[in-house]
Amino acid sequence: MTPQHAHAIVIGGSIGGLLTARILSDYFKQVTLIERDQLPSTPDGRTGTPQGKHVHNLLTRGMKIIESLLPGFEDELVAHGANMANWGRDVKLLSLGGWLQSLETDLYSPVASRALVEWVIRQRVLAIPTVTIHENTDVRALLTDSLRETITGVRVKARGAGGEEQDLIADFVIDVSGRSSKSPEWLKDLGYEQPTETTVDPLVGYATCLYQKPATFKDGWRLLLMTAKAPDTCGGAIFEVENNVWMVSLGGYSGDYPPTDPDGFVEFARSLREPLLYNLIQDATPISDIVGYRRTLNVIHHYEKLSRFPQRFALLGDAVCGFNPIYGQGMTAAAMGVELLAKTFKAAKGDLHGLGRRFQVDLAKQNRALWLLSTGEDFRHKATIGDRPGRMTRLIQQYIDRVIHILPYHNDIAESFMQVMNMNQPASVLFKPSIVWRAFTYRRSPQTAVSLKAQTAPSH
Ligand SMILES: Cc1cc2nc3c(=O)[nH]c(=O)nc-3n(C[C@H](O)[C@H](O)[C@H](O)COP(=O)(O)OP(=O)(O)OC[C@H]3O[C@@H](n4cnc5c(N)ncnc54)[C@H](O)[C@@H]3O)c2cc1C
Repeated sequence: MTPQHAHAIVIGGSIGGLLTARILSDYFKQVTLIERDQLPSTPDGRTGTPQGKHVHNLLTRGMKIIESLLPGFEDELVAHGANMANWGRDVKLLSLGGWLQSLETDLYSPVASRALVEWVIRQRVLAIPTVTIHENTDVRALLTDSLRETITGVRVKARGAGGEEQDLIADFVIDVSGRSSKSPEWLKDLGYEQPTETTVDPLVGYATCLYQKPATFKDGWRLLLMTAKAPDTCGGAIFEVENNVWMVSLGGYSGDYPPTDPDGFVEFARSLREPLLYNLIQDATPISDIVGYRRTLNVIHHYEKLSRFPQRFALLGDAVCGFNPIYGQGMTAAAMGVELLAKTFKAAKGDLHGLGRRFQVDLAKQNRALWLLSTGEDFRHKATIGDRPGRMTRLIQQYIDRVIHILPYHNDIAESFMQVMNMNQPASVLFKPSIVWRAFTYRRSPQTAVSLKAQTAPSH
């Protein structure tokens, strides 16, 4: 593909920003990423993405999109130590209805630190000759034409003493700077209205500690997911990331934040509704401090509703819509946004006029389905703050609730559920008559409850 336009600027050099730069390199002769952090040359964390210290699940759909943008991505991750997990065999999942059985599925996810995922993507994207990155550089403002109708570039400032402000000119600017995006203020400074926000706050907190995986551990799974079942507030996960390390994250809803002191952390693990995770970390050696995180609000910035939207500008990723991270949607949602951006550029056939606004409208529709999935789960917890969904959504959620409760007894339904959870298939697959029938004939009898309690965790 021969690029038609001269220069694009991407604000933010994280997973969303890097993938965006990859797509824009098809349409622009030069793409410049601006990133406020000094980026590590190795797969290590950095200050601009503090969430990277916690478990990150790259869902199958996200992995497939990245593979299509950067062929060979999966193999490179594995070559650098990621474990590729099959969702039927290598993921041990405690659902609301109990432990899922081992099953056949073609769904895979890499089990790796977020730092490794980002690093592999960065190596690939920065190897594109027309993509460059300005590290240690903050974007401070958007530039416009004299009518303030078209974004013409950004004002940047290098970090550190003596860094001067500089204006960079571009034909297109896209903000992928995450939850701390300053676009609402920048647009206001230019005379635009600020986007309204919808928020749903489940008051979720994380705490994470790295452990050396015990040499005696012989179970086959690479990923342990134990969901919180309201009114219980506690959940937890173990990811076998690179270098035989267990990344153990605990999560609490409704302000029941997991402690970051060693005794409190282990005690919180003991409060999960099954003892497996607690028992496992008893035998493992911690190799890091415990870090906490609480910025987990679901938030949509409604750029699609602005009455005026500047030309040659767009936003995607967490800068537009951030999800409660417990359902592992963020990186995949960003990748889906990039895929949509590619479609929007292709359809525009070189005409950038109105492209940004069209993209924001379509992105809002795309994010809506993901939003309903994550906030629907959050509203199981009574302390969640935000507007409750309408009657129709509530009915759908009650139905899904029934489906989730029968997952341990029907592998075909569990497989369909995993397809939806991995965003590989639409939620409509859960409404097939054969599933609807079993969901509605299921009765949550005292016997079922007893059999669920008695159920032992199946070894995979
Ligand atoms: C605790 C936690 C756990 C999570 N778990 C998962 C998970 O399991 N699965 C999943 O898919 N997602 C998960 N997420 C979400 C995921 O981290 C993000 O959705 C993902 O990183 C994509 O974000 P992004 O690229 O839009 O923004 P970010 O990754 O936040 O990156 C924004 C970038 O912009 C830079 N930046 C910001 N402002 C400026 C500026 N003014 N100038 C220059 N640069 C700037 C920052 O330094 C940063 O590099 C989790 C999040 C949290 C908080």
